[in-house]
Amino acid sequence: MHLLAGLVWAHASLVSVPVSQHPDTARDRPLLRVLAINDFHGALEPQVWLWSGGRAVGGAAALKSWLDSLTRTCECATIRLDAGDEMQGTLISNYSFGRPAIAAMNAFGIDAAAIGNHEFDWSVDTLRARMAGAHYRFLAANISDSATTVTPAWAEPWTVIERGGVRVAVIGLALPETPVNTAPRNVRGLAFGDGAAAVRRVLPRARAGADYVIVVAHEGAFCDAACHGEIVDLARGLDSGSVDLIVSGHTHSLVNTVVNGIPIVQARSSGAGIAVVDFLRGRQVRARIETPFADLVHPDDGVADSVRAYAGAVAALTRRPVARFEQELRRVGDEYGLGRLIADAQRRIARSDVALVNNGGIRADVPAGAVTYGDLYRVQPFQNRLVRLAVTGSVLRDAVEHALARPDGRADAHVAGLEAWYDPARPAGRRITRLRLADGAAVDDAHTYTLAVSDFLAAGGSGYAMLRNARQDDVGMTDLDALVQYLGDLRQPIAAPTDARLHR
Ligand SMILES: [Zn+2]
Repeated sequence: MHLLAGLVWAHASLVSVPVSQHPDTARDRPLLRVLAINDFHGALEPQVWLWSGGRAVGGAAALKSWLDSLTRTCECATIRLDAGDEMQGTLISNYSFGRPAIAAMNAFGIDAAAIGNHEFDWSVDTLRARMAGAHYRFLAANISDSATTVTPAWAEPWTVIERGGVRVAVIGLALPETPVNTAPRNVRGLAFGDGAAAVRRVLPRARAGADYVIVVAHEGAFCDAACHGEIVDLARGLDSGSVDLIVSGHTHSLVNTVVNGIPIVQARSSGAGIAVVDFLRGRQVRARIETPFADLVHPDDGVADSVRAYAGAVAALTRRPVARFEQELRRVGDEYGLGRLIADAQRRIARSDVALVNNGGIRADVPAGAVTYGDLYRVQPFQNRLVRLAVTGSVLRDAVEHALARPDGRADAHVAGLEAWYDPARPAGRRITRLRLADGAAVDDAHTYTLAVSDFLAAGGSGYAMLRNARQDDVGMTDLDALVQYLGDLRQPIAAPTDARLHR
């Protein structure tokens, strides 16, 4: 997915990460350590996050050192897994259709990976070319040819990894919603089935002779008071304890829970987390999510050199001028010009009645004067697809209520084609006093409207669960490309819109 938003990550800072402990004796040593990442999204360079206290996290060179260190300190059999969405998401990776991301995964020593929905973004042919360059298996037990129901040769359902005398069967799962999360042409002729059914189907064979069975799934969950989402439902749909671990992905969230006797982990996204799962004697499992701060390791020299070379190759693109702005656009207050501009861009390009952009997805300010593609890439780095939903007025109202539901009463999204009046003193979910469209008409609960959002929000990210079941069309481009196209159509220099849309 769907790329994330600050809200989810805000929780991450609250999670305390235990310091790695060196095993005192062979007896305390794990029988198996699983190191797992997910949703790498081409994050070859380290990033500073809202929650990371100004420190850079991840980057391929630091991640490689972290993984090696977590292997060394365990002195145990270790395998490395990835839960998919490896390639799509940064200019460096996208520019060569994911080659640098696959090279990073090779350097990480990934043993097996789930096939994420974004793996299809450049067609099955391109994916197969990338697979040919990978030193590991891509797994998906729930992808089949829609005509023959046979699994395509490039999507093995499961594999066995033997390490230090330990046999681990790994079953892969793709996102069942892949066909609605990517352009239809990318997955023509393929069917994406239910994950739990696929696991149950291959489990007897995978289990035979294996010490551990692990599901690596590009399906996710969000955890607040409790964890909820597809992967939680999937775990409930299996026999209790029938698999030893689920490595989850797609929702870019921090998950470390047990459902139906099955541990489930997910380590944020973009290399900003590493799930460390130790299997101990007596079927005990100890799981944690490490934060791979770049300043705690010496970055791997070979990987660092290769990232520098790839970055050099895109420098010309990064520096390409896209637009000129009258003033610096800063993200201050509830509603700001940059947010309105992005919402306007999405509404115009998607030709929808309304657009809604979560503030967590607006990641950087824009300087005054000439602005480059690289500048805008930092504003919207997630490569979310822009989608057009068909929603009833009542779902639209719920979505806007959610944007206005913060305890401090501040709006947490930008809208276009819509104006809302609200009372922050009222209980969350019942704050809107008036809601009207751009043409002045009141929103009719029973009427159907088109709503432009990122595929991240459409999948229920940032708490927008009300959008999850809406009919959706892929607009055919990313949110960033929609913004770039829109800005190119405007008179230069651009002045950001100043009209308030969410009135307290
Ligand atoms: Zn995904």
